[in-house]
Amino acid sequence: MVIPRSALVLAGVAALQTPAPIDVSLGARALQPGELVVLTVTTREPAGAVHVRAFDWDWPGFAADDHTWRAVVGIDLDVAPGAYAIQVRADSSSGVARHMETVTVSPKAFRTRHLTVDNAFVNPPASVQPRIEQEAAVLAPLWRSSNLAPLWTGAFVAPVPQEANSAFGTRSVFNRQARSPHGGADFPSPAGTPVKAPNGGLVVLAGDLYYTGGTVVIDHGLGLVSLFAHLSAIDVKAGDQVSAGTVVGKVGATGRVTGPHLHWTLRASGARVDPLSLLYVLGPERRPIPDPRFPLPFDSRFHLPDSAHGFSFRCLSYHARIRFSKSIDSSTLFGGRCAPLT
Ligand SMILES: [Zn+2]
Repeated sequence: MVIPRSALVLAGVAALQTPAPIDVSLGARALQPGELVVLTVTTREPAGAVHVRAFDWDWPGFAADDHTWRAVVGIDLDVAPGAYAIQVRADSSSGVARHMETVTVSPKAFRTRHLTVDNAFVNPPASVQPRIEQEAAVLAPLWRSSNLAPLWTGAFVAPVPQEANSAFGTRSVFNRQARSPHGGADFPSPAGTPVKAPNGGLVVLAGDLYYTGGTVVIDHGLGLVSLFAHLSAIDVKAGDQVSAGTVVGKVGATGRVTGPHLHWTLRASGARVDPLSLLYVLGPERRPIPDPRFPLPFDSRFHLPDSAHGFSFRCLSYHARIRFSKSIDSSTLFGGRCAPLT
């Protein structure tokens, strides 16, 4: 067969301009509304920048090392179930490498809870309307003005020792009137319990607000912003730098509450996400975080059959597509997570 000279030249140019591919792995508790997803982007050559586009938003990425970038993507409470594209772009000296991942967000059913509170927090008197509006105007930009770089180091930790008792996203009915979904986690901590910063960051608000009472807002950077509500005492002020474990205040019963507890709201570049999903994907336990795209653990139930030669799987531990052949020892794949390529 004779290949035209022009085709050879074109093929050569294309090869020179194609940057090395990038591998993307996901870590999440689930792909559902209100969940955080950690993207790990592995590049074969050092990248100068990595951009992530998902859910109509640009998510900041940061370099963990020369070849590894991470981004934390939030699936907002109101994202409808369905298929969504996550687009990743890595800029390096050899050009721009792109990767497109399609994820399926599954539906999530949220409970409804009925609460009885002081009527002034359900139907506020006209006299406090200006205050409520002014506070909402102060809070709104804080969710989306986070530092682009992470201001934290290491693992995120729980702010109080008690386990959270109310699910994020619960539909709240106050005094028989429906209000917006519960956008945080509640911890049934006794009044006076010290509230600790879950990780490093900058205090961007500390004060008394109508609905949230004694309130501290911490910008952790990379789009992650924490709000702690109903505090009886506040130990920090706007502009303070905190690190994991810094006491920012005490648990109380201020604002719209039925009793003392800690309320923690978390936003990721504005998306309303469950703070417990943050502790899951960036928390202290050093266990592997499941990749929701790879439901099958590569364990004894998943031995390579003799006929596996020629079958293709994607394996998380390799961050790559692998075409199995008899030359691969199945024991080297043990402990990875794989899914057949159809
Ligand atoms: Zn709450």
